[in-house]
Amino acid sequence: MLRYLRTHLNFLSLLCIVLAFLGQKSVASNSPAVECFHDQAVQLGLMKPSASIEFGPHSLEAAQGMSLRFDQLKGLRQISTDNAIAWCRELGLADETLKAFWPTKTGPKFEYIFSRSLNSGQQLVIQNAILFAFTYFKSLDVELAGTVKVIASSDLEELSQNLIDNSQYSISRAKAISIINRQCRGRGLGGFNAPGMIIICFNPRYNWRQAQVNLRMLLAHEMSHEIQRQMTGYRPIGIESQDEFLDEVGPLWLVEGSAIAFQFKALLPYVDVNEHISVFRSDVGGYSGEKLAQLTYSDATSDRDFPNYAALAGHLLASRADGHRGFLNYWKLLAREDWQSAFTNAFGLSPAAFYQEFQ
Ligand SMILES: [Zn+2]
Repeated sequence: MLRYLRTHLNFLSLLCIVLAFLGQKSVASNSPAVECFHDQAVQLGLMKPSASIEFGPHSLEAAQGMSLRFDQLKGLRQISTDNAIAWCRELGLADETLKAFWPTKTGPKFEYIFSRSLNSGQQLVIQNAILFAFTYFKSLDVELAGTVKVIASSDLEELSQNLIDNSQYSISRAKAISIINRQCRGRGLGGFNAPGMIIICFNPRYNWRQAQVNLRMLLAHEMSHEIQRQMTGYRPIGIESQDEFLDEVGPLWLVEGSAIAFQFKALLPYVDVNEHISVFRSDVGGYSGEKLAQLTYSDATSDRDFPNYAALAGHLLASRADGHRGFLNYWKLLAREDWQSAFTNAFGLSPAAFYQEFQ
């Protein structure tokens, strides 16, 4: 079984690399997350109901007032249109009455955008796999504030159009097509996460009997990426700002490693994490922490060892005291501080020490 899943891992982890893209800077300044935050501010009396629905100085002022009111928000990175989702979420967690403004409370948790090329049975299989992933993370007490759009099709042209139409960040047509081609072309099943969206592509000849395993794994993996985004903020990151990416998102091996650890745990809840560790160790003749440290930026995925390194690192971190919850602690801290300090506080050792013992 492990061997079987292991062969799936390569294609899975290669295809759903978190997207360091979505170039253009602007997110609609009145996105559902900003709206949620403003409604919460009005509810708390920190904003006038007549205030502009656009994000602006009045939003920053309200955030300051909230930080003073709720200890739990302490240290949260300054609010922006990108991380308004994290503020909206944490406010709801701090005060139950503010949860009512979450987009997932005022609207659906998942919005399915299915191609007509998928029959109703296939659509049900996808919904079931999404709920499988959702239920797994719910067992870890994860609550999402933002609605996730689930876009699925076997038509790449249609997927590109849906990506453009549903993205919170503007994407050019050429960019959308290139992303879809990279993630989907030539695969039986492909998929990726973009802010607020999970995009799934099926080859017309996809064997739907595999969905019980590989669709569930894929969606648990992508859900992990979406949770990281909602906990820390949606961000359009261009290739040019790699340091910003690192500071706010963390190293790519960890983004992928956490998602891989979660996908295995969701599918095989009773397999001890050490079993996975020995499988990954036996597959590659020797790992080096020095190399892991270099698998940091978005170009890391071009290294053929990247999936194995990310998977081993993720499982090693999941084998520490807090188990898979360690990643959730890490993301919560990452919403507040740089990744090194979040890592050290969440996992109880510094990245340098982890690289040192990684082998
Ligand atoms: Zn991924």
